[in-house]
Amino acid sequence: MSENNERRHRVIAIDGPAASGKSTVARKVAEALGFLYVNSGAMYRAFTWLALDRGVDCADGEAVKELLAGTEFSCEVLDGAGVVGLDGRVAGDEVHGAEVNAHVSQIAAWPVVRDQIFEVLHAFPSGHDVVMEGRDIGSVVFPDTPHKFYIDASPEIREARRRAQGLEDSIADRDRKDSTRAAAPLTIAEDATVVDSSHLGVEQVVEAVVDQLAAQGLPEAVRRG
Ligand code: C5P
Repeated sequence: MSENNERRHRVIAIDGPAASGKSTVARKVAEALGFLYVNSGAMYRAFTWLALDRGVDCADGEAVKELLAGTEFSCEVLDGAGVVGLDGRVAGDEVHGAEVNAHVSQIAAWPVVRDQIFEVLHAFPSGHDVVMEGRDIGSVVFPDTPHKFYIDASPEIREARRRAQGLEDSIADRDRKDSTRAAAPLTIAEDATVVDSSHLGVEQVVEAVVDQLAAQGLPEAVRRG
């Protein structure tokens, strides 16, 4: 592989359960390093929102497949973040609503949906270095990246964080569904660095991640340290 190809394919994978703080941390790590930030959960959320908007039963695999086949997925870059476009439209805050929270894990369990989003996620590093967050980034989407993190926090603290955000979200139910599904379940990749954020502030978690990246020899992280 040429140096250019290697550079194009640098991926920092940040996985973890719901409300572990990984989105904030991933965005800040991306900013610190000058990498593109990609939130894969937002893509599952966007497709779930579309399914609900079209009145598709999320438990009906054939109906979900039909919607998927009739939807055009595109990769967009907005404000330093890689996002998915569905039929040319990038979803907004509506994807964080209670209805989407209640159905997204059901939609994300369908292998056809995962295959489609896998393709979108793989399209980003061809043009950018990325920090990508999700549930299966280090284990399934980019298993070969040497930069893998799993951000965790106790269930009580994660529930409290969601309540403080004023969001209706049964994270215990999502975690159970995400961890027990057959396709790409939430898991800690063998070679991931686990950071327990329960008693750490955001900046401390960001620092732990950047320090580990510097120890791995990532030039942008070494320069920042
Ligand atoms: O990260 P966030 O909580 O927004 O993700 C929403 C949902 O999307 C998760 O509960 C999970 O069902 C799904 N997801 C996934 N794989 C990813 C990212 C998110 O299955 N890589």
